[in-house]
Amino acid sequence: MTALLLRTEGAPAPELPTLPQVPGETLWSTLGPETLAAPALEIAFPSFKDGRGFTLARELRDRLGYQGWLRASGDLLPDQATHLRDVGFDDVLINENSTAAWERAAMRFKQRLQRVAAHDHRARGLSGDTVEGLNAHFATLETEAILEESLLRRWPGAIAVLSSFGAEAAVTLHLAAQLDRFIPVLFLDTGKLFPETLAYQKALARRLGLGNIRLIKPAPAALAAADPLGDLWTRDCNACCALRKVAPLAPEAEAFAVLITGRKRVHGHERESLPVLERQGAQLRLNPLAAWSEAKVEAYFQRFDLPRHPLWAEGYRSLGCAPCTAPAGAAGPRSGRWAGLEKTECGIHRPQVITVR
Ligand code: SF4
Repeated sequence: MTALLLRTEGAPAPELPTLPQVPGETLWSTLGPETLAAPALEIAFPSFKDGRGFTLARELRDRLGYQGWLRASGDLLPDQATHLRDVGFDDVLINENSTAAWERAAMRFKQRLQRVAAHDHRARGLSGDTVEGLNAHFATLETEAILEESLLRRWPGAIAVLSSFGAEAAVTLHLAAQLDRFIPVLFLDTGKLFPETLAYQKALARRLGLGNIRLIKPAPAALAAADPLGDLWTRDCNACCALRKVAPLAPEAEAFAVLITGRKRVHGHERESLPVLERQGAQLRLNPLAAWSEAKVEAYFQRFDLPRHPLWAEGYRSLGCAPCTAPAGAAGPRSGRWAGLEKTECGIHRPQVITVR
């Protein structure tokens, strides 16, 4: 066995003969202080179809703030290299006879990282501004002016809209289309969307004249391997979202320095303190509607006579995949998402608090 490095920056690998091993199926909440204090950990995947090792790594990094070395081992495929890196693994233990395939996979995402780095200087250049400084500046502007400055002057050619074509998506898309009808719009078709969403996507794109929709789907091979029956969501929603949303989006999103989202503080939970601009890894997320109220959204729909999602009339206030979305309850517009579970986000929005240099 040999260890293949998954990232290009940061500290060198620990010189330990063996690393403390944690089974991939371990729940993050059961990890004790001794484990979290270890300078390096190896997460062992029981099967390439089992996504819990990915979830564990992400929770270790994002929720528990683990800063040590993370190694993946066990039954893994070269196609999973990008996702391993994205959730925070530093290296992966591989069989020598599969080195060439793994290195090809690693090379593909290293090339993408170089592309991001090129964009990143544009994201960070900004005449020496910081994210905090830009947020203070954006706080003085109307939404339209924030978008005009972002699309036309700060990040032209390096900015895209990330849209679910859900309940309120028409507002962000309409605002962006006023400035550039050909701005890239990343649309994730998980294979589990409502047929109404797919129809709405086509109709709204036509109505707004959007000319650069980038349809993103999970790789058929990944679905066949990890969710052949399409029922992963019944057992592990985090793994299903990682497979159908996070992994397919990552390589497409890396082509952009900034992604525009339609998230708002009134959505509640983690979004209550949503800034207009935030960092996510090497990328920035622009949330120009962060401070918008439901009344302001409704007024915008009426002012421009924008079509509502067909399921709006049935009480859906936030729309995701059909198996995981119900009409909203009294608890808020997103209360119908993964109703009954603690889960409130799919994982494609994972901001990190890093000061822009
Ligand atoms: S929202 Fe549900 S069906 Fe869609 S990717 Fe996540 S768990 Fe799977």
